[in-house]
Amino acid sequence: MAERQDRGRVEINLDECKGCQLCITVCPVNCLEVTTKLNKQGYLPVDYKGSGCTGCGLCYYACPEPGAITVFRLKKSA
Ligand code: SF4
Ligand code: SF4
Repeated sequence: MAERQDRGRVEINLDECKGCQLCITVCPVNCLEVTTKLNKQGYLPVDYKGSGCTGCGLCYYACPEPGAITVFRLKKSA
């Protein structure tokens, strides 16, 4: 059986993230996680788990840091 293709993907600029975890709170599919390495600002940033994103954009709208999150909506492949 073919794996279900994700509808979206997020990229997080780890050094812009302040580790507030609002994005984790709002993500309906729980595909974001706290990392274990401090960033340049001394916060533990959040990163994408690597799969499951729907491209809904809720994390983007919740994030107080401009430029920390970029959401991509992926086209269906045939
Ligand atoms: S775009 Fe939606 S599904 Fe993807 S990480 Fe952000 S909140 Fe979660
Ligand atoms: S909402 Fe933005 S600043 Fe807060 S943890 Fe998520 S990416 Fe980082």
